Amino acid sequence: MKHFVYTSQPQRVLFGPGSIRNLNEEAQGLGITRALVLSTGPQRDQAEFAADLLGANAAGIFDAARMHVPVETVRAALAQGHEMKADGLVSIGGGSTVGLAKAIALETGLPILAVPTTYAGSEMTSIYGMTDGGLKQTGRDPRVLPRTVIYDPDLTHALPVSVSITSGLNAIAHAAEGLYAQDANPIMSLMAQEGIGAVARGLSLIRADANDREGRDQALYGAWLCGTVLGNVGMALHHKLCHTLGGSFNLPHAETHTVVLPHAMAYNAPEAKEAMAAIQKALGNTGASAAASLFDLAVNLGAPTTLKELGMREEDLDRAVDIALANPYWNPRPIERRPLRQLLQNAYEGRRP
Ligand code: NAD
Repeated sequence: MKHFVYTSQPQRVLFGPGSIRNLNEEAQGLGITRALVLSTGPQRDQAEFAADLLGANAAGIFDAARMHVPVETVRAALAQGHEMKADGLVSIGGGSTVGLAKAIALETGLPILAVPTTYAGSEMTSIYGMTDGGLKQTGRDPRVLPRTVIYDPDLTHALPVSVSITSGLNAIAHAAEGLYAQDANPIMSLMAQEGIGAVARGLSLIRADANDREGRDQALYGAWLCGTVLGNVGMALHHKLCHTLGGSFNLPHAETHTVVLPHAMAYNAPEAKEAMAAIQKALGNTGASAAASLFDLAVNLGAPTTLKELGMREEDLDRAVDIALANPYWNPRPIERRPLRQLLQNAYEGRRP
């Protein structure tokens, strides 16, 4: 067995339908008596529900969380938190809302209690990001890791089926890359394999019925595991490409992960045989390669399969390669221009790997 290092991160996790009912008790456990509740505009109702549960321990609601965490939003939320003398943050929503909580925590050190309602997994990582003047800066800081996370599948039923599917495939991408990470370890690999299987099973049930209880439970459980993998080991080619496509070409986050993943897997397969075997097993050993199994899963779920349909222009593929090659990073297979260009062409056209 290879040498490995495993560092566990201090977080308390509550999982289960109806577990949001424990919100106030959990906030008190963190010493929060004046919570600033964060959400996006469309999730204001859920933020109000959370504030009601917190009762006297809620100081107010900031409902303007946005994609990519713009600094202007962070400043406005910081001002409101300061004015209300907030002593803790409750984020109810997806990666954008947790992202805002993290940016505030970075500045203030306030504890975060996260209530995730998508499968993005940000609540399990100490990675933060902020956008200033169109430039996204990211970093890691233990202060931004949510102290307590409440996973209540009941809150995810309202997530539209198509969004659930791409969000779930985004979660699978964290686990898939975690399996061949440079700093991979057996604990994270166990979680990754279990997480991929649970998300895949959950999504198939959700595709048939948005309110399938077992499907919602499985998908959120799997998303927790996949998010944990993202928070604990390094990512490689797939995540780099998705950041390039999102950051420089404004492609949508979860959809881009969905389209690129099978092609990044196919690229890395020759140098990541154990990881591919684990993915195949998680997806039920269909007889196809890991990459093809992921592609077939996306097709069966009715997910997007081409960069073209996400708005990518074919003439920009060369520039995407240049950007991806500009700052080198670790990947199990060396990153070379020609095969990388071919990978992007395949993803652009949606060819089965
Ligand atoms: P999101 O948070 O932007 O949510 C998308 C939309 O869905 C929003 O309008 C939101 O209000 C709505 N929504 C969320 N849950 C809902 C529900 N249950 N019912 C109805 N509507 C709901 O999207 P996301 O995919 O969760 O997060 C993407 C962002 O998170 C990206 O910016 C990404 O970079 C970031 N992210 C960061 C990390 C990290 O570790 N820092 C990890 C993963 C993702």
